[in-house]
Amino acid sequence: ATDFGIKEALKQLGVNAINDGTSTGSDNFSNGDIIESYSPVDGQLIGKVRTTTRADYDKVMDVATKAFKSWRDIPAPQRGEIVRQFGNKLRDLKEPLGKLVSYEMGKSLQEGYGEVQEMIDICDFAVGLSRQLNGQTIPSERPGHVMREQWHPIGVVGIISAFNFPVAVWAWNTALAWICGDVCVWKASEKAPLCSVACQNIIAGILKENKLPEGISCIINGDYKVGEFMTTDTRIPLVSATGSTRMGRIVGKTVAERFGKSLLELGGNNAIIITPSADLKVVVPGAVFGAVGTCGQRCTSTRRLIIHESVYDKVRDAIVGAYGQLTIGNPLDEKNHIGPLIDKDAVNMYLAAIEKAKAEGGNVLVEGGVLEGEGYESGCYVKPAIIEAENHFEIVQHETFAPILYLMKYSGDIENAIETQNGVAQGLSSAIMTNEMKEAEKFLSYAGSDCGIANVNIGTSGAEIGGAFGGEKETGGGRESGSDAWKVYMRRQTNTINYSDELPLAQGIKFDL
Ligand code: NAD
Repeated sequence: ATDFGIKEALKQLGVNAINDGTSTGSDNFSNGDIIESYSPVDGQLIGKVRTTTRADYDKVMDVATKAFKSWRDIPAPQRGEIVRQFGNKLRDLKEPLGKLVSYEMGKSLQEGYGEVQEMIDICDFAVGLSRQLNGQTIPSERPGHVMREQWHPIGVVGIISAFNFPVAVWAWNTALAWICGDVCVWKASEKAPLCSVACQNIIAGILKENKLPEGISCIINGDYKVGEFMTTDTRIPLVSATGSTRMGRIVGKTVAERFGKSLLELGGNNAIIITPSADLKVVVPGAVFGAVGTCGQRCTSTRRLIIHESVYDKVRDAIVGAYGQLTIGNPLDEKNHIGPLIDKDAVNMYLAAIEKAKAEGGNVLVEGGVLEGEGYESGCYVKPAIIEAENHFEIVQHETFAPILYLMKYSGDIENAIETQNGVAQGLSSAIMTNEMKEAEKFLSYAGSDCGIANVNIGTSGAEIGGAFGGEKETGGGRESGSDAWKVYMRRQTNTINYSDELPLAQGIKFDL
């Protein structure tokens, strides 16, 4: 099989045949079991990662806790300078890192590069922000007094990430956490552990060049049990966890039990509303990329199309027609639109969802199925499916992390479509396709979409750095990356300062001695 430059990429990233999955920077060690990382692209073993034991974890936490005390002493703009250097290093290594993402996770090479570009963008954002961690002054009711609000670093931030964005989600968190004065411990997905090794090698080089101590960036590896080391650990004031709603329900509860903070970025069930005035030139690429991009494995993937009955046939035919143009195959080969699912478990979930949809009365418009034969040896390549369904079907209410698109009709006013769009437990991303200003504004109003992301005339996937990213309801309520998302990585402090010679009490309370 053609190598597509993978060997060279691994070499450039310092990823070996066997790697320590525990690291505090330049110090790598690990005494747990081995995870073997197989590529869903061709089924080949890419490399092995030794996982983190409890003793390894405690060593990491000792180093990280110590590092926090010196990192927070460095002025924020100087911490920004480190993040600037990290962003530049990512520019140099965009090609190999993008290739590794594509090969280990299975997304298209373009999307692999896109993920690295997001890391670069969040670094740039964080560098600017490092001079803007502003608090405020607040007028006091007492004479000769002033009130102030300050933001201080929070401590060791725990990051748990999903397989589908194996590098960007880490950077979204770390770039902000670092400028805020925090240190980070990252547990990557056990389905993409080599990506964490590569990222850690990159930042370790920058930290070493700047003679910074061990512990500012740490990785640990393993399955949910290693994640639990962090969720139960009172030394970690903030756990940022990205993954399924099932995981978030456990992590949120565990962290809350010890009064920690959690930032949850969980599953979506994203819909596009297609109104009578929608422009098909925008609808078709928006819906199709949303549904099949990353083989339907984005948290923002389009799962439902809610189409007005007056344009239903036309839209359905155009979308079904576009599916006929899609090429499925090795994602490193840029002529293919769609790569594989992450593993065979995901393939089985996809097949079961199609059967369930049929059993509930769904009408299959584009048949799914697993691809076999040359180029599909990994067994992870599937055909994207389209099914006419109803919103109340149990399977439609559920996020299936695969390229299955459900089509449904609405009649009458936009309110009906909005009700359907909101009629699921998740609340991540949503979109409306319309040329009617009133419909668009209604959709964006308080009475419109209940999602954290609501778009007009673009699809549900493909967020950019700058806006806060995240969703409501079972999506977990967290916000990352843009806007004021930095505040979650800091602790807030309110100060009252008396510069008078008296001691007046608030609310006019008298206490004479
Ligand atoms: P997953 O929930 O299976 O695993 C995610 C991570 O959580 C992994 O690192 C896993 O080891 C860890 N984990 C699982 N149970 C844990 C526990 N009890 N304690 C501590 N850690 C635990 O998810 P996945 O299959 O890797 O990713 C797909 C899911 O992620 C989808 O639901 C998708 O929508 C969601 N996702 C959401 C966003 C977002 O920003 N909202 C982004 C990407 C992915």
